Amino acid sequence: MSVQNAGNGGNAVMDNAASYKTPTLSLVVPCFNEEAAIKFLYEEVLNVLEKNEGITDFEFVFVDDGSRDATLKELRKYAALDNRVHYLSFSRNFGKEAALLAGLAEATGKFVVTLDADLQDPPSLVPEMLNVVRCGEYDCAATRRVTRKGEPPVRSFFARCFYYLMAKFADIEVVDGARDFRLMSRTYVEALLSLEERNRFSKGIFPWIGFKTKWFEYENRERSAGVTKWSFWKLVLYAFSGIIAFSSKPLAIASVMGVLIFVASLILIAAIIIRKMTGHSVNVDGWASTACIILFTSGIQLFSIGILGQYIAKTYTEVKRRPHYIIKEAS
Ligand code: UDP
Ligand code: MG
Repeated sequence: MSVQNAGNGGNAVMDNAASYKTPTLSLVVPCFNEEAAIKFLYEEVLNVLEKNEGITDFEFVFVDDGSRDATLKELRKYAALDNRVHYLSFSRNFGKEAALLAGLAEATGKFVVTLDADLQDPPSLVPEMLNVVRCGEYDCAATRRVTRKGEPPVRSFFARCFYYLMAKFADIEVVDGARDFRLMSRTYVEALLSLEERNRFSKGIFPWIGFKTKWFEYENRERSAGVTKWSFWKLVLYAFSGIIAFSSKPLAIASVMGVLIFVASLILIAAIIIRKMTGHSVNVDGWASTACIILFTSGIQLFSIGILGQYIAKTYTEVKRRPHYIIKEAS
């Protein structure tokens, strides 16, 4: 078993593999319960790169993110079949971000492309993306979906809300519909690996590191096989952690609300004093208004403590400095 942190895995592989030529392109594929999809991806990539473009010096870096189905068995099979297929297998499910990180650290190619196992990121775009980055004008070729066809409307709605909030809160620009399907130069990959944060939120990390990026657009497509691994709740948590990872503005919300309530209370106190001085009664009927005020302020207090707690929790995971993932088996 080996435990790896970001940034050093890639070099270790380089040393071990000194005997073999650095491939031009590494394809990093995170896989979580993708036993049915791997076959289609492998065949499609071979079709596009080898048959159509004549590119043969590429490698696959599959990362089995603690799958509970026969994904690892499939990967072992392809690794035995084709020496360009490499795989890592995690000791449990660490999430797509960790899988992408492990794949990037392991990839040795001059260029690296990250794509999903389910063919929702079309490999047919890879040659064009490779040409753009290979020319040297761009460091990265990124993709975004222009439609959300085939996605449940509720999910699309919340996705739009997330991009809206991100634009309002975060100090970096997160592109609406941006996929994790990216082709990157070696320099770009090294920059990604140099960020060692535990709460990794790629959608924010990409714009944060900068570099020149060329955007490709494509229509949403259905999965080749299997089902989505993102439950609605998982997506909501992901969105929250994204906002917290890239913005401290939610903390300001608490302060602003505090100031507003304080000002309102001053106005109320002044009103009561004036009423009393002008001979009016300041007695209030019943308990309803008092109860409302107590509920309102305690709600806002709990909400603010909650926001604060989120930042403390994230800080806590950062300080513990646990590895991003644990590798149980590698080809
Ligand atoms: N994935 C992963 N770990 C996870 C969840 C997903 O490695 O915990 C992989 C999954 O196998 C796929 C990619 O991430 O290759 C995208 O996942 P999925 O297709 O389920 O997401 P969607 O396309 O529905 O957003
Ligand atoms: Mg998918």
